Amino acid sequence: MQRFNRQALGFFPTPFHALPNFSAALGAVDIYIKRDDLTGLAMGGNKTRKLEYLLAEAVSQGCDCIITAGAIQSNHCRQTAAAAALLSLPCHLLLGGHKPSKVNGNLLLDYLLGSTIHWQGENRKGEGIPDLVARLKQQGLTPYVVPYGGSNKVGALGYVNAMQELQQQLANTSISHIVFASSSGATHAGMMVGKSLVQQDYQIVGINIDKDENANKPFKQVIVDIANETAQQLDLAERFDLHDLDLRDDYIGQGYGVVGSAEQEAISLLAQSEGILLDPVYTGRAMAGLIHLVRSGQIPASAKVLFWHTGGNPALFAYADALT
Ligand SMILES: *Cc1c(COP(=O)(O)O)cnc(C)c1O
Repeated sequence: MQRFNRQALGFFPTPFHALPNFSAALGAVDIYIKRDDLTGLAMGGNKTRKLEYLLAEAVSQGCDCIITAGAIQSNHCRQTAAAAALLSLPCHLLLGGHKPSKVNGNLLLDYLLGSTIHWQGENRKGEGIPDLVARLKQQGLTPYVVPYGGSNKVGALGYVNAMQELQQQLANTSISHIVFASSSGATHAGMMVGKSLVQQDYQIVGINIDKDENANKPFKQVIVDIANETAQQLDLAERFDLHDLDLRDDYIGQGYGVVGSAEQEAISLLAQSEGILLDPVYTGRAMAGLIHLVRSGQIPASAKVLFWHTGGNPALFAYADALT
């Protein structure tokens, strides 16, 4: 890992602790939490870890502005805007939709962080990036494009590293499962590679939160490919295939960002038993998945489950209507 530049953007290690009241509410399983909602970069989240490696690369390549893309309430875009601000680099965000009459949640923070927003209508996955890159280059600039969700082999290093961080914190606690929200792939891929580095045998269970709309490559293959590229750049012999991947597609409901009763229950249960907030789009859905896996016995009563909180809380305010 030392070979790769890392730009400090957050506060690590993030806390790891037990959830006794929430565990009791669910029954027999022991549930723990890893608090990447508390990475500290402009309200935190999992993109902070990826951006530590991605923006280090941008700096080492001599880039003078940052581009990334996402949905209107993208946590990734908000953390990228914060990281760019910290490094005094102008940040361009390509956001899906149109400027709403009321600016709220992550979008409010994007403005406060000084990013330039390019509204993209139907496109929330960076379709307009090549055009913007060309325009900026014409102006003599050298843009660095952070991929969608910060997901490539560089971003994944953040979660390889996070697994080593977790290993230190686990000490004598043995866990059987890690459950978390997965949507652009590098969190999942980094965890797979990190798990092989720390030689643990817990099960890594990603809860898919978005429909698979990538015409070129199925999402599962995207994750496996990032994992293999990440292992390769670290000179690890380990290679992965689809059988090594556990990604659950059963909780997507009405699609990305559509809050249903399962998310509402998960958010309320954790908030009211532990005083910890989940977000409506990612962690609320992932926790709903965890609750279902426990109740249906797919995660056995003897399990010790780590829920990896990946952040997203600013979006709560933009989803007030769906949550009340
Ligand atoms: C981006 C994001 C995820 C998904 O992580 P990926 O690495 O993109 O799969 C999960 N939770 C939150 C809050 C996020 O912002």
